[in-house]
Amino acid sequence: LKMAENGKSITEKVPAAAHPLSENPTEIASDINYHLQFNPRFSPFKFEPEQAFFATAESVRSRLIKQWEDTLWHFGRAKPKQTYYFSMEFLQGRALTNAIGNLGIENAYAEALNKLGHELEAIVEQEKDAALGNGGLGRLASCFLDSMATLNLPAWGYGLRYKYGLFKQRITKQGQEEIAEDWLEKFSPWEVVRHDLVYPVRFFGSVEVNPDGSRKWVGGEVVQALAYDVPIPGYKTKNTISLRLWEARARAEDFNLFQFNDGQYESAAQLHSRAEQICAVLYPGDATENGKLLRLKQQFFLCSASLQDIISRFKDRRGGYTWSEFPSQVAVQLNDTHPTLAIPELMRLLMDDEGLGWDEAWDVTKRTIAYTNHTVLPEALEKWSQPVMWKLLPRHMEIIEEIDKRFLAMIKDTRPDLEHKLPSMRILDHNPQKPVVRMANLCVVSAHTVNGVAQLHSGILKAELFADYVSIWPTKFQNKTNGITPRRWLRFCNPELSNIITTWLKTDQWVTNLDLLSGLRKFADDAKFQDEWASAKMASKQRLARYILRVTGVSIDPNSLFDIQVKRIHEYKRQLLNILGAIYRYKKLKEMSPEQRKNATSRTIMIGGKAFATYTNAKRIVKLVNDVGEVVNSDPEVNSYLKVVFVPNYNVSVAEMLIPGSELSQHISTAGMEASGTSNMKFALNGCLIIGTLDGANVEIREEVGEENFFLFGARADEVPRLRKDRENGLFKPDPRFEEAKQYIRSGAFGSYDYNPLLDSLEGNSGYGRGDYFLVGHDFPDYLDAQARVDEAYKDRKRWLKMSILSTAGCGKFSSDRTIAQYAKEIWNIQECRV
Ligand code: PLP
Repeated sequence: LKMAENGKSITEKVPAAAHPLSENPTEIASDINYHLQFNPRFSPFKFEPEQAFFATAESVRSRLIKQWEDTLWHFGRAKPKQTYYFSMEFLQGRALTNAIGNLGIENAYAEALNKLGHELEAIVEQEKDAALGNGGLGRLASCFLDSMATLNLPAWGYGLRYKYGLFKQRITKQGQEEIAEDWLEKFSPWEVVRHDLVYPVRFFGSVEVNPDGSRKWVGGEVVQALAYDVPIPGYKTKNTISLRLWEARARAEDFNLFQFNDGQYESAAQLHSRAEQICAVLYPGDATENGKLLRLKQQFFLCSASLQDIISRFKDRRGGYTWSEFPSQVAVQLNDTHPTLAIPELMRLLMDDEGLGWDEAWDVTKRTIAYTNHTVLPEALEKWSQPVMWKLLPRHMEIIEEIDKRFLAMIKDTRPDLEHKLPSMRILDHNPQKPVVRMANLCVVSAHTVNGVAQLHSGILKAELFADYVSIWPTKFQNKTNGITPRRWLRFCNPELSNIITTWLKTDQWVTNLDLLSGLRKFADDAKFQDEWASAKMASKQRLARYILRVTGVSIDPNSLFDIQVKRIHEYKRQLLNILGAIYRYKKLKEMSPEQRKNATSRTIMIGGKAFATYTNAKRIVKLVNDVGEVVNSDPEVNSYLKVVFVPNYNVSVAEMLIPGSELSQHISTAGMEASGTSNMKFALNGCLIIGTLDGANVEIREEVGEENFFLFGARADEVPRLRKDRENGLFKPDPRFEEAKQYIRSGAFGSYDYNPLLDSLEGNSGYGRGDYFLVGHDFPDYLDAQARVDEAYKDRKRWLKMSILSTAGCGKFSSDRTIAQYAKEIWNIQECRV
């Protein structure tokens, strides 16, 4: 009796040997013990927290597997249209708290572990973060999976099983050091390897023309894609979906025994080591030609394996299918352009393997694929070298050329007014120095829907980046403002605040209907509610202070204002603006008399984030924050009024510690440059006020929480081009406070490291790495004024608490349940399929 996920070959569903799914703590404890004994991963008789974690996770996994099979069985029989979310990144973080929380068995597991002499909180800490992503884009994909499962949608994710995820950041005297992070070192208890799901993926080779004119990609090298499934449980539902991650393996026949026996060990295993490289590392640096080739291989590997898997499921489920039905069974969402090769690969599979003609294949492809844009930064818009593509994917380049040719012909035929725009609208850029394929253009031409990730960003896409296409396909472009899962980012990471919310709202329904938080508005002035709110915040601040002491050795005062900026380090995110503000604050505190100082609001400024290994200016910013912290924190004159802490190794579990304890958070990118941001939503949801620019989703957060509860400053997106022009024309006059802060660094107040290259980027009117492209100098005075308003507001405890409550109360819109429901209805056309 074969248990197949498509349900086709199953004649009857028979129960497997019973697993104790009891919620009785004693029985759970005995199940954990069972896993410890009969699934041994360590030497016997050890029951340290680490062993307890793995045994607990395996016990939870058994429950998930049960729900998972029920879900797959149900989808297989109901045959709904299904969405597949293609993403090169999933920033999952830890899974244990989330799994038992979603299953509603936290208390039972906590009690069971107590019986075994362990504390759930300590066990949870044993888990390594699954960091298969860089930042916001990857974490968004993970929040989306949680919402898809919770909304009972027939949808799942496809990604890659990188051996080394995002690097571990260590801070030394030299600044940031990157260390490979082996999250699989001791295996992941969550994944299930699917030995029956293996697909061949080809690279290189050539195109053969058959006598009937059809074409076939042959030769080159073939690796195997093997599926690993990670269960994604929904919150308080039986639906559990999959994140399917592909691993690359060479075939046994590619191991050259003859060479091996001849002592040529390396060349004997050449194909094996080339296959292993594919999933070795998230985002290998692509400064070299080899690096670029490997990244392109990763992208294609994800697309090809996933599409073969989808097509095989389609054939199984549909019996006498017709290909034109494919888009009514399958929706593919591309998370940014990284999986763009899904477009030519689907065309190739349909034409070369399934025998469809161009028009039919194009119709199916267009109706299947949708694309999400995540950036307008020109350097982040992917372009692949044509020669590299011809070498690695010759058949796909033929298909891309044909799509480009037909697009050209369509414009010439139907829109001669746009002909002069073709050089920038075309997919192929034949610049003789650097011929490239523009992946975003390929997506826009081929996808049925293109969406941005916040209102402002989607507006910029329509008005600027993709404006020429809008006049051809006015209905293709949509907005889907990002969201975050309220389970991980409030209910589980902030139990104190969650309990208060549930008590006062008299329901815990807000966890799946976040709009209910607006019901808190009426208690915003209630003294008792405010006191409870304040003590929940204080509990989180104390926990955070203990954490900071443990990881940095710096003692921070939970009575000071906790001011946090954590995100990838990038010049456009302007951590430099933050630290220059901190430096100015420090200098002014030093100039004050002790009496004057007593009037100052005490602050703890925490900054954290990873800099890409080859991004020199970002690494200089990390170093500067650390150097400033060293001086400020050991200055007895002022260190009870100001601390500056660099939080090392920022990742999802560190975020879960920081966000509940935050009171002010900084989202201060140059307007127009941050597509959405999602940590801004997480902070605001946890009662943290935002100081920010009118950028990305800040705009909508401010609308929702109320202008008076948001510290706004800085240039608006529509002013930025003119301000840059003014600067080029020498019209910018820096504020003396800005000069003072920079001069203080140059004076050596924070050590002898050479900060000139970083400071030089803020000087001059133009030029590479100069001319203050990110407008730090322009926004600096306005930023200081906004910070002064923060200091004043914090002195008025009642006012601050009211603002904090109104911030949480206004965050209903930012649930990823809302975002995913909109994708489901407005892009994917899929419906709930509840087990
Ligand atoms: N990195 C981690 C670990 C996160 O949890 C998040 C989002 O909360 C991000 C990066 C993205 O942060 P931002 O939206 O501020 O860029």
